[in-house]
Amino acid sequence: MLLKLIIKHGRVKSVLFITFSAVVASAIATASIFYFSGHRMPVINMYLTIIIPAVIASLASWRTVGMILKIHGLEQEVRKLADYDSLTSVMSRAAFLNMSEAVYQLMARNQSSLAFLYIDIDDFKKINDTYTHAGGDAVLKSFGSILLKQIRKSDIAGRLGGEEFALLLVNTDSDGAGYFAEKIRNSIENTITSYQGKNIQYTVSIGVSVFDQNNRVPLDKLITQADTALYSAKNSGKNCVINWTIR
Ligand code: GH3
Ligand code: MG
Ligand code: MG
Repeated sequence: MLLKLIIKHGRVKSVLFITFSAVVASAIATASIFYFSGHRMPVINMYLTIIIPAVIASLASWRTVGMILKIHGLEQEVRKLADYDSLTSVMSRAAFLNMSEAVYQLMARNQSSLAFLYIDIDDFKKINDTYTHAGGDAVLKSFGSILLKQIRKSDIAGRLGGEEFALLLVNTDSDGAGYFAEKIRNSIENTITSYQGKNIQYTVSIGVSVFDQNNRVPLDKLITQADTALYSAKNSGKNCVINWTIR
């Protein structure tokens, strides 16, 4: 509760609030003691009962609140690092799969369709061999940013491993998924990634599977279907899109 208030209002407001509370508590306690003992409170006591808690509470809480906010900031940073892949800025595998499960449950309950795109960069090993591992990293980074630019805010993108990515497109039927996958494939084919003065061109293969009234499968099955479709795309010469239902 206090933690939430501190995070919401920041250091200065929190310290002022804590100091004010300490002063009020001290004044009430001291005044009660004098009142019930039947003595008049000397003027000096009145000042001390305000000044001492004001100084102590403000100094102590300034340090403590600062530390709490710093720990909270670090916590956020760690969470961000765990949820997002630092190279490509899309979600990391675990976070993507967790989020996919939540979205899947929601879509399944609402009888909506959901498309899963499994994307793998073609001949990526060759890119690494030709342009070095750092050149390969530049391709991954550029690919991640292209994905994030193309998807809608409600869709999610993840890096499942080395040069394997996935997209979960909400409220998307089979035609829409095929159209979108083709758009991504085409834009990658026409993209040039610059790395140390060299132009790198590459392609991707995409496997598509769609959860809809004709294919009401659990999420892990949906992913396996997209993976199977991707495998077919690789076997069909790469740089193409294959839908699981028409593979
Ligand atoms: P295919 O067309 O069949 O997909 O072949 P491929 O060469 O793309 O696939 P393969 O699985 O043979 O090689 C993937 C390579 O990706 C091997 C691995 O060293 C490299 N890799 C994995 N993670 C990273 C990374 O983070 N950065 C870079 N630069 N390379 C990576
Ligand atoms: Mg590959
Ligand atoms: Mg691969």
